[in-house]
Amino acid sequence: AKEAGRGTHAFFADSMTQQLRREMEIARELIQAIQNDELFIDYQPQFDLDSGRLVGMEALVRWHHPREGVRQPAAFLPVTEKRGLIRPLSDWVLKAACCQIRDWSDRGLEFGRVAVNLCAQQVGDPDFGDNILAVLEQTGARPEHLELEFTETVLIAADARTQADIARLSELGIHFAIDDFGTGFSSMQYLRKFRTDKIKIDREFIQDVTQDAGDAEIVKATIALGTALGLITIAEGVETEEQAEFLRRHGCRQVQGYLYGRPQSPEDIERQLRTPNAS
Ligand code: C2E
Ligand code: CA
Ligand code: CA
Ligand code: CA
Repeated sequence: AKEAGRGTHAFFADSMTQQLRREMEIARELIQAIQNDELFIDYQPQFDLDSGRLVGMEALVRWHHPREGVRQPAAFLPVTEKRGLIRPLSDWVLKAACCQIRDWSDRGLEFGRVAVNLCAQQVGDPDFGDNILAVLEQTGARPEHLELEFTETVLIAADARTQADIARLSELGIHFAIDDFGTGFSSMQYLRKFRTDKIKIDREFIQDVTQDAGDAEIVKATIALGTALGLITIAEGVETEEQAEFLRRHGCRQVQGYLYGRPQSPEDIERQLRTPNAS
């Protein structure tokens, strides 16, 4: 509190106002950031656990703030959601990732699939399917190079029409992954309802998988479930050889994590890609 004698009420009100001001400032800056190309994408590679081959990557948004440097999603996504800006941001990421897909395709690079995180407003849009197709058309990205990730929270916005759209996009070759699998309450429901190609086992379960017997059982069961359903299983947040060994032993198909590669620039990714003609 600025004045002596003011109660805790005033103190909290003050810090709330400050917090709100800060949030509004970030929101205002973000609108400009989208227009001024201050956002960019890092790509985190994903590998087949058996062959060690790169199978794709996840697009992760970052913000190059003109004065404060690079901001990670944790520093601005919560405000982005709260202030109703997650839709324009997520649309930007989808389009930018599809431009990258087109560029790599044109140059004959083998990059697998690029996975993009969707938000609830994109999925809940009555034109969800058409919007995705429009981006593919605008950018010239091919559907078999795109993967769409959504969390259970995002799928709350989904209905029968979304279900039909997902089926339609699936037919065209787009893959769908359930993100943060197992962290919510209704993973199984979503598996039944939506055409899914892949489940991503959340880092939360991988972190202590070699120490925590409970986590180990959950991960084993998730891999077994995914495999039984004919889905690709991918573990995220793999940081140690021991975790990788555990996952390999229990039949997990793919991995993503610092052990294999941090989120990085498209140029750094390119250095790891093969051209079909090169040996
Ligand atoms: P997520 O989808 O679960 O993405 C994985 C996060 O784990 C990323 O954090 C990634 O950098 C981090 N990570 C990957 N491997 C490791 C590891 O081995 N160890 C550790 N400690 N962390 C690892 P990031 O980039 O900070 O993104 C955080 C979250 O922000 C994402 O979680 C996702 O929910 C959201 N997000 C990021 N980019 C986008 C986007 O373009 N659109 C939307 N809607 N959400 C995004
Ligand atoms: Ca994700
Ligand atoms: Ca995730
Ligand atoms: Ca996660």
